[in-house]
Amino acid sequence: MLKSHPCGALTIAEVGQTVTLAGWVHRRRNHGGLIFVDLRDRSGLVQVVFNPAESEAAHATADRLRAEYVVQVTGEVQRRPPGTENPALATGAIEVQAQQLRILAEARTPPIAINEEVEVDEALRLKYRYLDLRRPKMLANFILRHRLVKAIRDLMDQEGFLEIETPILNKSTPEGARDFLVPSRLHPGCFYALPQSPQQMKQLLMVAGIEKYFQIARCFRDEDLRADRQPEFTQLDIEMSFVEQEDVLQLAERVITAAVRRVCPQKRLLSPFPRLSYAEALRRFGSDRPDLRFGLELVDVSDLAVGSEFGVFSTALAEGGVVWGLKVPGGAAFSRKHVDELAEIARRAGARGLVTLVREAEGLRSPSARYLGEGRMAALAERLALAPGDLAGMVAAPLEVAAAALGSLRSELGRRLGLADPRTLAFCWVVDFPAFEWKEQEQRWDAVHHPFTAPKPEDLPLLEGEDLSRVRAAQYDLVCNGHELGGGSIRITDPELQRRIFRIMGNSEETVRRQFGHLLTAFEYGVPPHGGIAIGIDRLTMLLADAPNIREVIAFPKTQSGTDLLFEAPAPVDPAQLEELHIRLAVPEEA
Ligand code: ASP
Repeated sequence: MLKSHPCGALTIAEVGQTVTLAGWVHRRRNHGGLIFVDLRDRSGLVQVVFNPAESEAAHATADRLRAEYVVQVTGEVQRRPPGTENPALATGAIEVQAQQLRILAEARTPPIAINEEVEVDEALRLKYRYLDLRRPKMLANFILRHRLVKAIRDLMDQEGFLEIETPILNKSTPEGARDFLVPSRLHPGCFYALPQSPQQMKQLLMVAGIEKYFQIARCFRDEDLRADRQPEFTQLDIEMSFVEQEDVLQLAERVITAAVRRVCPQKRLLSPFPRLSYAEALRRFGSDRPDLRFGLELVDVSDLAVGSEFGVFSTALAEGGVVWGLKVPGGAAFSRKHVDELAEIARRAGARGLVTLVREAEGLRSPSARYLGEGRMAALAERLALAPGDLAGMVAAPLEVAAAALGSLRSELGRRLGLADPRTLAFCWVVDFPAFEWKEQEQRWDAVHHPFTAPKPEDLPLLEGEDLSRVRAAQYDLVCNGHELGGGSIRITDPELQRRIFRIMGNSEETVRRQFGHLLTAFEYGVPPHGGIAIGIDRLTMLLADAPNIREVIAFPKTQSGTDLLFEAPAPVDPAQLEELHIRLAVPEEA
């Protein structure tokens, strides 16, 4: 090794020892003939002093050092002179008196500052990701990620699970996204699909008798990217045999709780994780991924709106909708502009508008007072528990729209009013999802989770009817602080039922045979009851690291448009490569 110690690990215990260090020049200062260098490696920083009285040659070389030069230093560890200690630094009690200095590599001035916390344009950070990752804050994210995954692997092992790798090149498994395709050279005109998840593989491993499988699995989905989406991402993928829903939830809860406590003991966990049905989550929080760190629950005021002359209310109710409200503590003090912004958020979620009601010391006030009438205003204020100084926002709309509008409003208010404690991880389970959703454009039913999800046994008779929206699935989502962290289900193991579900989703016999024949055949050879879950490692790390998005916890992430700015991928390829793959491009050369 070119070094005897990590820079950041030196303490007064090493005083008097001669050490050899190697790393990057974090900072360099000249002070009255002495040169001070903060030397950085992965472990942290240490101060190195170059004194011409100690070594003329080392001092002269140190004069040439610039930020990010790579150097090797040999010297003696000494106590810092009294009054010059730096308690903010782990090694702040000592310094190294340099005797020898060797420059291992010079460095151009980095385009992004590594030794100070300044806002840097993200495109620049991604283009020079190897420099961005040198920043201590980014390094900390990857140390955390490593520890998390290590803890998960150890815990899964203790629970009796086997980690088994599944192929990246295979046939598509539907997870509701578009596939990434890889052309086959050996089979002209044929393609592999990158796995949207190892769903069918892990089910086949259950047929194979593995009983408890897990994998830190890479998944690929070609969908439009949002803040916490990437085209490739990592999941803790789990499948278990001979289980019911409750067994999967408890296993996942045990592992996640223990892993988080191990790597982030400073975080507060809600334990046990509360359970909410999908319907309850919508009714109380307006979202199937509620942030439970704060209250602000939605209130159903539909019954108080019945019989109102107010067109906004009466029309919505006549159309089978609801009137729901949300109390904003202290909202009476909001400016007109602020209230307009809240109404705009509701509108963006599909509501026609926001009906507001304010309680002041003197009484109730509302722009819609004329239509609401005094008696109804009083009843609404009482139901919403408005105290003087509070404001209520109400939405009259179809249930899903009212939920979406007030759910967005609730999240926004949670942020603006600082209601969510950043140290708390409020995990919860959302269960009893609807099994199917109607795809208006395609005029067909689709699985809410995926087609392998079992309907709840008590809802099976509903499959006979026309309206499948009432069929519930043995599906569960793991939610934390307003993010969907993962989901899973108990699977269908009856080949006949599985065929029927494929048909309901509009697949022809031929498609089912071609795409899922292997699975249906496997189920004819003795399939154990099984279920599983997948939990997003990127999102979980993001929450533990208090990072604003998942790109901060992925070493080489892609931009919102799916490009890698460092490699400049995707990129055109050599025509000879295309030829080999039997591919002719339909796009113009320049495109
Ligand atoms: N394959 C599912 C997913 O990736 C998870 C599961 O059902 O286990 O979301």
